[in-house]
Amino acid sequence: MEKTAPAAGSAAKKSTPAKKPASAKKPAPVKKPAPVKKPASAGRTAAGKASAKKSAPVQKAPAAKKPPVAAEKAAVAVKDAPVKTVVKQAKGESRTALVRRARRINRELAEVYPYAHPELDFENPFQLLVATVLSAQTTDLRVNQTTPALFAKYPTPEDLAAANPEEVEEILRPCGFFRAKTRSVMGLSKALMEDFGGEVPGRLEDLVKLPGVGRKTAFVVLGNAFGRPGITVDTHFQRLVRRWRWTEETDPDKIEAAVGALFPKSDWTDLSHHVIWHGRRICHARKPACGACPIASLCPAYGEGETDPEKAGKLLKYEKGGLPGQRLKPPQAYLDAGGRPAPPLRAG
Ligand code: SF4
Repeated sequence: MEKTAPAAGSAAKKSTPAKKPASAKKPAPVKKPAPVKKPASAGRTAAGKASAKKSAPVQKAPAAKKPPVAAEKAAVAVKDAPVKTVVKQAKGESRTALVRRARRINRELAEVYPYAHPELDFENPFQLLVATVLSAQTTDLRVNQTTPALFAKYPTPEDLAAANPEEVEEILRPCGFFRAKTRSVMGLSKALMEDFGGEVPGRLEDLVKLPGVGRKTAFVVLGNAFGRPGITVDTHFQRLVRRWRWTEETDPDKIEAAVGALFPKSDWTDLSHHVIWHGRRICHARKPACGACPIASLCPAYGEGETDPEKAGKLLKYEKGGLPGQRLKPPQAYLDAGGRPAPPLRAG
């Protein structure tokens, strides 16, 4: 039997408020539900919109302010897509409708996660590069707990390249696969010294030449340390864009190209953050919290997870210790804005 999305706002209103962080002065109010257009799937109604637009501390939602871009423009964006691919569309949905729905989802998510940012602590491109390599097979929080000691002892590529591997291994042990990760970060440090004068290059073609650095890592660094647009196709991104039927591709490079073709290049980096944050907090791999999902009305996979708002609310995962994401050193803009969590999600 087809499941029906809950009425707008119900999920947010019935749930337990998020845990108040130490820095929060008052809880983020629940945003008044916005009118929702006809859902992607016939017969479904709008779901609760769990955003907190009015209380958002950082006004970082450029995608939400941009008018929808015409389909022709999206087609032009294919030129910027790094890998050529055939974009498959959901059955019965036109290319134009797909582009509009995809951009609407991104705008909605931009309101829910107005300050979405990389969840790894870093102060320069070298730190972000190393932290991203270390984040494989572990949590960003674990990496953030580990890197302060690493960068205190080895602040530059030169220092890390010349390090005693056993000492580096000891520092990296909590991250798992610490021997392989030691080889990776020391190897890329040596390559930075030998080939790039000790500086992290700001070009994709150079970054992917570094040992242990693939396109995903390269785009994280380009997008967040150099301000150059990039799509980060991690496990969350892959899962969500397939649930949303943005693409049927399974190869990360082809997913990157297919999704890149749906959006202007300038949206790519923030889009990546929005999707990954949503995957970590609401649209989980095993138990997506559909009943508490702010984009349920736009999602063809609504009903794949728990649809009861109360039960779905208990599935939500929220920020660690009240800070945004898993960072131990949140971005200054977030702290300047009062350090309040943005979305009124419920702690599980
Ligand atoms: S599958 Fe994910 S995005 Fe779709 S309604 Fe459920 S939680 Fe939301």
